[in-house]
Amino acid sequence: MKLKDLEKWNQSLPNTEKMPVLFLGHGSPMNAIEENQFVTEFRKLGQELTRPQAILCISAHWETRGTFVTAMEHPQTIHDFGGFPQALFDVQYPAPGSPELALATQKLVTSTEVHLDDKWGLDHGSWSVIKHMYPDAMVAVIQMSIDYTQPAQYHYDLAKELAALRHKGVLIVGSGNMIHNLRRVAWDKLNAPYAYDWALEAREKMNTAILTHDHQTLIDFRKQGTAFDLSIPTPEHYLPLIYALALQDDQDEVQLFNDEPVGGSLSMTSLKIA
Ligand code: ZN
Repeated sequence: MKLKDLEKWNQSLPNTEKMPVLFLGHGSPMNAIEENQFVTEFRKLGQELTRPQAILCISAHWETRGTFVTAMEHPQTIHDFGGFPQALFDVQYPAPGSPELALATQKLVTSTEVHLDDKWGLDHGSWSVIKHMYPDAMVAVIQMSIDYTQPAQYHYDLAKELAALRHKGVLIVGSGNMIHNLRRVAWDKLNAPYAYDWALEAREKMNTAILTHDHQTLIDFRKQGTAFDLSIPTPEHYLPLIYALALQDDQDEVQLFNDEPVGGSLSMTSLKIA
């Protein structure tokens, strides 16, 4: 990608109204092909929001050393799971990529080097939710990886540098789960409204912090005690939330939806920041 292509992107995408930012609780990969209350909300969002020029998705399922963005024209649909029905492996989500947006993102971020990736594609963290919002797969999607060597504060600061994209018609989507402890899942209650006490406690504290704009508590998630530690045994499903919150500005309001604990140790809680 050359500089003139970047200029072309800037010109082809004039300033737009400010796009919302989303955090989507993606839950089980089966949500990609099942009908339930959660996917109904994803579908509604796709119909309600101004159709984006492109989507930048931070998925829990792409962790790297360093920060990457997918830069290919045609990202492959990655089936990054095992033990699910063939119907899930048959799903293809052939949304185009956007090498231009990848390059623009690379240029926009100055605190770290953003590397361009030509091997990844769209993992289920992105396609299992975006396919409900935009079933025609016509909106370009790029992913940004999560640098697993870095603390939450790094991710929060990095995400703030993406704010200009909101004015270029880019919908930024974090996809993970705020509460995500697979070792403790009550598999017979998956997608059932069921939560352990610690999950309920963490959910309440997280929601309160979100709604009162107390981002530092959420960034310092390792200082919040046992309920948080059990809810966030590893940070990859939680950090996409940090990206979304970092992009909240003073005019934005936060709406919670799909705010349901499921399977005992998971939550589907999702946010619209607009
Ligand atoms: Zn996941």
